[in-house]
Amino acid sequence: MVPITGRKQFIAIPAEQMLSLSADSYSQVLKETKVSANQKYITSVHSVGVNLTAAVKQYMKQNGLESSLEGYQWQYNVLVSDELNAWCMPGGQIAFYEGIMPICQDDNGVAVVMGHEIAHAVARHGNERMSQQLVIQMGGVALSEALSNQKETTQQLAMLAFGVGSTLGVVLPYSRTHETEADELGLYFMAMAGYDPRTAPAFWERMMAQGSTRMPEFLSTHPDPANRIRDMQKNMPKAMEYYQARKK
Ligand SMILES: [Zn+2]
Repeated sequence: MVPITGRKQFIAIPAEQMLSLSADSYSQVLKETKVSANQKYITSVHSVGVNLTAAVKQYMKQNGLESSLEGYQWQYNVLVSDELNAWCMPGGQIAFYEGIMPICQDDNGVAVVMGHEIAHAVARHGNERMSQQLVIQMGGVALSEALSNQKETTQQLAMLAFGVGSTLGVVLPYSRTHETEADELGLYFMAMAGYDPRTAPAFWERMMAQGSTRMPEFLSTHPDPANRIRDMQKNMPKAMEYYQARKK
C-alpha cells in the first residue's frame, strides 16, 4: 500500500532486487553521463536532498514505516544535459539535469521537483511499473526466472521504469495515477522539510510554459496544467499543516 494516499498496488519484484537494479542503473548512468561542474547547482541539489530525505525518513519512522526505506542509498547528482529532467531511482539515487535548474530558480523549486521524484521512490512506482511491464512482456515466464535469466532485458526495463529514458532514447512516462500521487506526496514532503509548498504551483506554471520536448519525466501523461494546479490547491491545506508543524 502507498503511504499517505493508502492506494493498493501490484508489486511483484523483491525489494532487494529493486535495490540492486537501482544501484547498477545509477552507476551505469554516471559512467555514461557527465556530472555537472556548476557549484551553485550542486550545492542546491545536495542541501535540498539532504533536508528532504531527513524529513521523509522522520515521517516514515513516526508512522512505523521506516522498514520500507531500508537499504535505500540516497545520492544526489547534477548531470550535464539540457533536458528538463530529474529522477529518483527506487533505491534513492537522485539525478537533476542542468536544464531544469533555471526553471527551479531556487531551493524551493528544487524542493518541488525533488519532493515529486522522491515520492515516486517512496511510493514504489518503479517497482509497480516494472511489475506491470514484466507481466506484459514476459507473460508466462515466472518473474523470478525472468529476473535472473534475462539480465539484459531486466536492466533495460529497469532503466525505462525508473524514468531514465534518455540513455536509451525511449521514454516510458509515469501514468497519470502515479503523477498525481507523486504531486500530492511531493507537496507534503517539501513542506515537512521546511520548504514553502505555496511556491509549487508557480513552479509547475514555469515548467508548463516550456513545451514538453525536453522533459522526459514530465511528459504527456502528466495531468494537464490546470488540473495539476487545482489538485495542488486542494492538497495545500494539508501541506500547510506539515509546513507549520515544521516551523514550530
Ligand atoms: Zn513524475
